[in-house]
Amino acid sequence: MEIKLQNLTKIFSDKSGKEVRAVDNLDITIPNGKLIGLLGPSGCGKSTTLYMIAGLHTPTGGKIFFGDEEVTEVAPEKRGIGLVFQNYALYPHMTVRQNIMFPLENLRVDKEEAEQRTVEMAKLVGIEELLDRKPAQLSGGQQQRVAIARAIVKKPKVLLLDEPLSNLDARLRLQTREEIKRIQRETGITTIFVTHDQEEAMSISDEIVVMNFGLEQQKGEPQSVYDNPTNQFVAQFLGTPPINLYEGVIKNGKLFIGNSEIRSVEGFNLKEDEGVTVGIRPEAYIPVKDSKQAKLVIAYNFVESIGRDIGLVCAHPESLNESFRIIIRDLAEITPEKMNFDLNLKKVFVFRKISGERVI
Ligand code: ATP
Repeated sequence: MEIKLQNLTKIFSDKSGKEVRAVDNLDITIPNGKLIGLLGPSGCGKSTTLYMIAGLHTPTGGKIFFGDEEVTEVAPEKRGIGLVFQNYALYPHMTVRQNIMFPLENLRVDKEEAEQRTVEMAKLVGIEELLDRKPAQLSGGQQQRVAIARAIVKKPKVLLLDEPLSNLDARLRLQTREEIKRIQRETGITTIFVTHDQEEAMSISDEIVVMNFGLEQQKGEPQSVYDNPTNQFVAQFLGTPPINLYEGVIKNGKLFIGNSEIRSVEGFNLKEDEGVTVGIRPEAYIPVKDSKQAKLVIAYNFVESIGRDIGLVCAHPESLNESFRIIIRDLAEITPEKMNFDLNLKKVFVFRKISGERVI
């Protein structure tokens, strides 16, 4: 089921009567059968968007369509959605079997069919052997699978997941997110996954929607948004370690960081002497022996071994952060104290200072 949000807006008023634009003119289409990650910092309006799609919040303005049908005014239980929350919200006094079957009893599905569908769902999410346990006898990850089984047993057209992994430890999060991806692929239910965790959203989603201050910042396939951010906010929000930011200046048609010439900016709409912010991804630095080949010479404070990669914790006079990280692949490339780097220019972005708009 395709989901279309048209100029969707939600304005709350807080206790003092001040208006909060939680969601501001959101205009997005979520293709049928896809998994979309709704992503952004705390308070950016992700949950409010999800709750409007679920029918739990009434929009202040705009429309919601499921396929060709407008559902903006349709009651939540009539929308054909499955909802999974962060805290699972299982019924503690019921067994796993009863929890999963509960929505079917409400729909007055024939008992035998309900039993059969419950077992099918339990198999799908891999908890078949736990059907007679109570929620308190399950791990967090198992409880979350039960919550997913309960949400999809009604065969919803749309599955909405609100931070479903945030109560799990790191290993279980990884495992459960793979499970969610697999279940979504197998069922083909159009799914919206809300998270503030960029890595989680990028790894699981067919497309991500990045939000800030209630506004859509960018929508697209995760890799393409990472490689081509439209603005400084998106560039900074995606990526671990985060993108490194420097003061830059345009002189004689070239971009400089301090005295270092980074690249030509001919053909781009940048003014002479314009101050800009330069963003360089941590993996864009290429160690070179010869300082003549180097675009930047950077001093590092210490070396951090993070398994597959090696992080150099660095400082630079033009850096906008007190310290920042560079990722290199090989310890043998490290020279004492300072290193010469060429740059992969595909991973070097130039942003306008005030608007944060990306120019290069
Ligand atoms: P988080 O990740 O912290 O859950 P979020 O991105 O899901 O954040 P929302 O919960 O959608 O953000 O909130 C968006 C904005 O709307 C915030 O500024 C929040 O304080 C405000 N807000 C949310 N619900 C209400 C409400 N019922 N009344 C007043 N303001 C609200």
